[in-house]
Amino acid sequence: MRVVITAGPTREPIDPVRFISNRSSGKMGYALAEASIAGGHEVTLISGPVSIAAPAGARVVSVTTSDELYDAVHRAVAACDVLVMCAAVSDYKPVAVAKQKMPKQSGAFSLQLTATRDILASVAREPHSFVVVGFAAETHELESKARAKLRAKNCDIIVANNVSRSDSGMESDDNEVIIFLRDGALKTISRAPKKIIAHEIMKIVFEFAQKSLTKIL
Ligand code: C5P
Repeated sequence: MRVVITAGPTREPIDPVRFISNRSSGKMGYALAEASIAGGHEVTLISGPVSIAAPAGARVVSVTTSDELYDAVHRAVAACDVLVMCAAVSDYKPVAVAKQKMPKQSGAFSLQLTATRDILASVAREPHSFVVVGFAAETHELESKARAKLRAKNCDIIVANNVSRSDSGMESDDNEVIIFLRDGALKTISRAPKKIIAHEIMKIVFEFAQKSLTKIL
């Protein structure tokens, strides 16, 4: 199958030397790409700035901002069977980007932000024939929030993880996830290295994709 996987954070520039970003390391998305390649699938890995090496065999598209990621995803899904949106897209970006380094000011400083576009929702809302997998990083009410996201973003599958723990989730080598499927089914993958979690996630995703493709044919 042709799989598009997004990974890592986005950076939203404030001025030439500053940006807004988040703690995503890209490890989970890269592990998903590696697991898919190991399964014989064709992978396009659209990655924000990370410090890890891409798995051999992936076609890598490097992006920096959420707008670049938006364009890259919309281009890539024109020819794909599965989209996995694992990237930690910045929810906000500065309204204006200063052309020169902003001078330090004394006292309080405020920056006007605007919401970025929801890439996952924008892709899934259009008619499509590929399987859509979203991620939900939550600190509380994991199940209700993940199920709400699955519906709101029109996903087939949502992979939820609890990022309030320091020993799993963002930046960590380990993770534990709950996978929610469109039909209401739920699968829990208990704490393990991200590479093992990635194999389990992609097994469930490809099984789901195989079933939906069979239905289409
Ligand atoms: O709403 P929330 O950010 O928790 O949703 C997470 C999911 O939505 C992830 O799959 C993430 O890649 C995707 N997302 C997106 N565009 C955004 C924000 C999140 O595609 N602007």
